[in-house]
Amino acid sequence: MAWRFALMIDPAASDDTRTDFSGTFAEIDPSAPALTVGELSTQRGDGIFESIGVVDGHAQEVGAHLERLAHSAALCDLPVPHREQWRQAVVRAAAACGPGESVIKLILSRGVEHGPAPTAWVTAATAADFTAARRDGVSVVTLDRGYALDVPARAPWLLLGAKTLSYAVNMAAIREAKRRGADDAVFVSSDGFVLEAPTATVIVRRGDLFVTPEPGTGILHGTTQLSLFEFLASRGHATAYAPVTIDELRGADAAWLVSSVRLAAPVTAVDGVPLAVDAELTASVNAYLLGPRD
Ligand code: PLP
Repeated sequence: MAWRFALMIDPAASDDTRTDFSGTFAEIDPSAPALTVGELSTQRGDGIFESIGVVDGHAQEVGAHLERLAHSAALCDLPVPHREQWRQAVVRAAAACGPGESVIKLILSRGVEHGPAPTAWVTAATAADFTAARRDGVSVVTLDRGYALDVPARAPWLLLGAKTLSYAVNMAAIREAKRRGADDAVFVSSDGFVLEAPTATVIVRRGDLFVTPEPGTGILHGTTQLSLFEFLASRGHATAYAPVTIDELRGADAAWLVSSVRLAAPVTAVDGVPLAVDAELTASVNAYLLGPRD
C-alpha cells in the first residue's frame, strides 16, 4: 500500500461551534514515525476506525462512515467525534488522493496510557487492485465465530457491533480460510447463522429478494450494503434484513461479499460447493459502487 497522506487531528469536543477546523490538523510525513510507545491503539487495539473508499478523489459515503464512527465511539465509551471536524479531515485527505482508487482511514484511539486525550488521525493510501475479485469472485469457507446470535445483546462489552482496531481475529480467519484453500471466510454463529465476512458484509439472493443479516446481531452495519440496497430497490428488487442460516447461504441463488474498498465480490463457492455467479448483475453493481456516492 502506497501511503500518500497523513494528518494528525486534535479532537474537538462534540459541541465545539467552530466552522473551520484547519487549526486542529497537522499534516505529517506518512512514512515517518508518528505515535508514541504508550499508544493504547498499538498496545491494546483500543480504538476504532473507518475505511472509506475513494474514487478519482471522491470519498464515498462519508456521512454513513461518520455515523458508524460515532456509533463505534459510543459503544467503546470514547468521546463523541466532532462530525464537522472529521468531515473536513476527510476532505483534506481526499484532495491528496489523485485519480484512481484510494482508501482513507479514520482512526480514533483511546490515546496514550495515562494521557489526557484520545489520539486521532487520518491517512490516505493508494488502494490495491481488486478488479479480479470483483469480476471473478471469491470462494469462502464458513468459520464458527464461537458465539450464538443472542450474545451481542447479552454481552455488550464484547463490542461486537463496533468497528474496533482489534482485527487480529478477523485477520486470523482470513489466514485460516486460505489454509483451507479458499479466498475468504464467512463467520457463522454457534447456532448456525451467517454473520459477516472478516472485512465485508454478506448479501445473499433468493429469487428476486436480496437479504443481509441484521446488523443488531453483533455485526457491523456495512455502508456498502446500505448503499447497494438503495441501488437494488431503485431497480425494483426487494431487499430485507433477516437471519440467514448456513444452509441458506449454501443454497442461495447468488451471494456477494461487499465492502468499501473491494466493493462487491461475488461468492463462487461456499465450503467447496460451487455457487452461481451473476456476472452481469455483479458488473452493474460494481459500476454503481464505483460512481460518486454521498
Ligand atoms: N464487516 C466487517 C467486519 C468489516 O470490517 C467491514 C469493512 O471493513 C464490513 C463489514 C463492511 O463495511 P463497509 O461496507 O462499510 O466497508
